[in-house]
Amino acid sequence: MLAEGKPVINLGEGELHFDTPEHIKRAGIAAIERGDTKYTAVAGTSELLDAIIDKFARENGIHYARSEVIAGTGAKQLIFNALLATIAPDDEVLICAPYWVSYPDMVALADGRVRVLPSSADNGWKLRPDVLRAAIGPRTRWLILNSPNNPTGAVYTRDELKALTDVLLEYEHVLLMADDIYEHTRYADSFATPVQIEPRLRERTLTVNGVSKGYSMTGWRIGYAGGPAWLIHAMQTLQSQSTSNPSTISQAAAVAALRGGIGFMTDWLATLRASRDLVLATIGRCDGLRCDVAEGAFYAFVDCSGLIGATMPSGTLLHDDLDFANYLLETAHVGVVHGGAFGVEHHVRIAYAVPMATLEDACRRIEAACAALTLPLIEAGQP
Ligand code: PLP
Repeated sequence: MLAEGKPVINLGEGELHFDTPEHIKRAGIAAIERGDTKYTAVAGTSELLDAIIDKFARENGIHYARSEVIAGTGAKQLIFNALLATIAPDDEVLICAPYWVSYPDMVALADGRVRVLPSSADNGWKLRPDVLRAAIGPRTRWLILNSPNNPTGAVYTRDELKALTDVLLEYEHVLLMADDIYEHTRYADSFATPVQIEPRLRERTLTVNGVSKGYSMTGWRIGYAGGPAWLIHAMQTLQSQSTSNPSTISQAAAVAALRGGIGFMTDWLATLRASRDLVLATIGRCDGLRCDVAEGAFYAFVDCSGLIGATMPSGTLLHDDLDFANYLLETAHVGVVHGGAFGVEHHVRIAYAVPMATLEDACRRIEAACAALTLPLIEAGQP
């Protein structure tokens, strides 16, 4: 549609609109000028591995050795490698819905089976310990936990994590993947990663993180992970025969990111919070939509069930969340992602990390598009 000249605003992209900070860009340029343009060790340069080790120790209180950390081409590659290296055919991976779109397909590519665990807005979109316990079976290989969460923005508290790690302690055959990629994009004061809460899970937990989201470096493609040496070794073996080391230029930039402090994020978070509040205020004014306040990431996961059955100005009925996303795209020229992609229907995800003026425009359009719908009649006695 953009190629056709249509004024589409894309609220579907999972990245910050801020420029990568200057000191990080400079480090990448310096790497090129220094001639750091050749292969490195597969797991990353010693400078980067040490910066990763220091980050985990400083910010998360986890102490890893060099053999227990790895850098890869984005957190995505590391998650994929970890699953591919460990899943035997028909092994099960537990994923709480709504989930990041890539997890199920990665499990499928590794010949595993996904078991989707439910959560609900009433429970803040968090996995409950009883739901986890009931789902674990002899073929369970992994549980994937993602906090702050994509697409809901939910951030697990320490107590909530403790309740889940207590369950996992009882099942020694289950590995835990803690996807902390949104660690720095959160409004909640406290953040904890599972190994911090339960060090006894250290030997079977992969803690995944990266510079993409927090440092606005999605295009640089650097992720990193810490975990038991056997798992890191297996991931490294896969990486060695597939992508090898991540880009040297990006590795140098990531060292500057991890060593350079996170002070600049205070301003970013203030901007993101204002954007979040604008989206929530807009949703609040739209009949048929609702959304709770999320404490992290830069997404609003909006319940559009009140619009299902509404009539569009064209006269056709809106049947599901995909119809609503398409309606917003075609009539308001606003791109959002339908909830079905994340495993939960009757929702859409709005990624609000775009410039404020753009977001204001998009919000006006969403409100006008919703106002143009004729809502279904609610029969007396129904909630
Ligand atoms: N994990 C989650 C939950 C994500 O949303 C994303 C990106 O959208 C990633 C991992 C991958 O991040 P990257 O590969 O850019 O490091």
